[in-house]
Amino acid sequence: MKAPRFSYVRAESLEQVFELLKQYGEDARILAGGQSLIPTLNMRLSQPAILIDINRLDMLKGISAGDGAVRIGALARHAEVAESPVIAARLPLIAAAMPHVAHVAVRNRGTFGGSVALADPAAEMPACVLALGGTLVVAGARGRREIAAEDFFRGLYETAREPDEILVEVRVPTEAPGTVSVFLELAQRHGDFAIAGLACHARIEGDTVADARLVYFASEDRPRLAKGAMAALAGKAWNDGTRAAVIGALTDDLDPMTNLDGGAAMKLHLQRVLTGRALDAAVAQARAA
Ligand SMILES: Cc1cc2nc3c(=O)[nH]c(=O)nc-3n(C[C@H](O)[C@H](O)[C@H](O)COP(=O)(O)OP(=O)(O)OC[C@H]3O[C@@H](n4cnc5c(N)ncnc54)[C@H](O)[C@@H]3O)c2cc1C
Repeated sequence: MKAPRFSYVRAESLEQVFELLKQYGEDARILAGGQSLIPTLNMRLSQPAILIDINRLDMLKGISAGDGAVRIGALARHAEVAESPVIAARLPLIAAAMPHVAHVAVRNRGTFGGSVALADPAAEMPACVLALGGTLVVAGARGRREIAAEDFFRGLYETAREPDEILVEVRVPTEAPGTVSVFLELAQRHGDFAIAGLACHARIEGDTVADARLVYFASEDRPRLAKGAMAALAGKAWNDGTRAAVIGALTDDLDPMTNLDGGAAMKLHLQRVLTGRALDAAVAQARAA
């Protein structure tokens, strides 16, 4: 099918974006890499009045380190994030997850900001940003706001960004020395959207998991911090008893969706399997360090 009719503006400044978002509200869509937006237009799942192309806005580009955090501009392409030495050195979780995002052609155009703003429940980057305790910076005519990742993802493709705001950057705290990261997902084929996935960031001292953040995605309507499982893990040695307690806690933490990829019970099972594998890998990584 062909996309419905829409107006197109190539924005020359952020102020122009703010003005257009204020004017059109829900009827406007920001065009970043277009890797998700254009297919939804072609399938007529979305019929915006206007597309606001932000690709020329240099202030939304780039990746830089400073102040204990990494700034990832909304327009940083997935490929740029994948190849960034700053990401490799400071955010190994994101470096490990990025090869799972689609395929090279999509990664060459798709943007970090587009992925986070869209909040596809099966997307890898929202889960990583939440696992690392990142902050989303949005801006509009009313000013700038910083939103903690824990408050940003609200449901299926739903975020705390208002229709008159644009996501300008994501700030992610540098992974601290002595912490480890493991990213695992299950998909039908490499590059497909995941059916189940886990972003894990942990501090492990000896055999004890001092603390860990476990974020599950793809099975849920949003990336989900598994607070019960995290509590069952905190301060415990990683052994069979802890494994059973953590896996058991997921029954309350998770609320898997049944869809064409499978039923809720199967997805809960897959997330439990990933949990065991991820923590085995995290402990092995900590021992090897
Ligand atoms: C075949 C295929 C496979 C894919 N597989 C995966 C996968 O495995 N994992 C994965 O995570 N993704 C996958 N994707 C999606 C891809 O990663 C997209 O790049 C990403 O979801 C959106 O980024 P984009 O820059 O293309 O955004 P666009 O398509 O331009 O925009 C997506 C949505 O976000 C909004 N938006 C974009 N930027 C901003 C901003 N700065 N502020 C506010 N709103 C904004 C747009 O208005 C639109 O609603 C796949 C895509 C394709 C085509």
